Amino acid sequence: MPEGDTIRRLAERISDRFLGQRCARSFARDPRITHLDLVGATLTGVDAVGKWWLLRFDDGRTVYGHLRMDGRFDLGRRSTAPEWQRRLELEMENGWMTAIDMPNIGVVATEQEETIVGHLGPDLCAAGPPDVGQITDRLVSNEDRPLAGALLDQRNVAGFGNVYAVEVPFIAGVSPHQPVDSIRDLDSLVAAGSALIRTNMGRSHRNTTGRRLHTTNLWIYGRQNRPCPWCSTTLIGAGERDVPWGRVSVWCPSCQAIEPQRTVDVARIERALILHPARKRWPVEHPPADADDAAPN
Ligand SMILES: [Zn+2]
Repeated sequence: MPEGDTIRRLAERISDRFLGQRCARSFARDPRITHLDLVGATLTGVDAVGKWWLLRFDDGRTVYGHLRMDGRFDLGRRSTAPEWQRRLELEMENGWMTAIDMPNIGVVATEQEETIVGHLGPDLCAAGPPDVGQITDRLVSNEDRPLAGALLDQRNVAGFGNVYAVEVPFIAGVSPHQPVDSIRDLDSLVAAGSALIRTNMGRSHRNTTGRRLHTTNLWIYGRQNRPCPWCSTTLIGAGERDVPWGRVSVWCPSCQAIEPQRTVDVARIERALILHPARKRWPVEHPPADADDAAPN
C-alpha cells in the first residue's frame, strides 16, 4: 500500500509535468464523476494530503482520489490499460494523465475539499469536545518541531490560530520554540487550549485572561518589549521571518525558557485560568487521566 510519501512524490511528478496546462480532452468512467468534463480547465495545483491526491483546477473544482491497494497513475503517453480501468483520462498540453483502477475518486469544490479528504486534525470547535490524546499524538508525530508551529498546523489540530499559538504556550509555561517531543504532559497544554477556544467561540471577543470578558484581553500577544505579566522579565517579540513557523510571536525568555525537557506547568494553567470561565470546562471535558475515579459525573 502506498504511503504518504509515495503519493507526495506522485503529486510532484504530476505537478512537474502538467501544472499550469489546460485540459484538451477529458474522459470520466467512474459513476461518481460521470458528469465531470474538464475540457478548457487549467491545472493550478497538485497536492498530496496524507494518502489522498488532489488536482485543483481554475474552475474552482478539485478532483481527488485515494490509491488504496491497486490505484495508479499513468503519465505521458495515452494509457493502454483496458478502458474500463481508466477511470479518468485527461489530455493535457504535455501528454496524458490517466487515473487507473482508482477505488476512490471524486470531485468537490476546491473551497470544500477539507470536508472530503479529511486531512484536518480534530476540530476544536466541533459540537463535542475533541479527543485530546489524538491531538497530542498528532503533535508529537512532528518530533522536533517547535510547539507553536505544531499547534498552527491544521493537520494536527484544527482551530488554533496565532493568538492561541502565543497564549497557550505562555499559560502552560512552555516556550513556543520548545520541540514538541521534549514536552512532558502535553495533554494538559492541549486540554487548556481546547477549553479556552471552546469557551471563547461562544463570545464575540478573544479573551484568555478572564479579565474584562466583554473585550479582547490577552496575556502577552502583541505585548513584546513589555514586562511579562507573570515574572516581569521583558517579553521577546519575533516577526514572521524570525521564527520557523512564519507568524509573529511573543514569549517570556524567563518563565518560558527552552530546556532539554520541559514539563507543562499545570499549577500555572490553573492560576492563569482562575478568572476565566474556561476553568470550568477544562476539568469537565478533559479530566486528568489519573483522576478518573474522582471526577464528578
Ligand atoms: Zn515571565
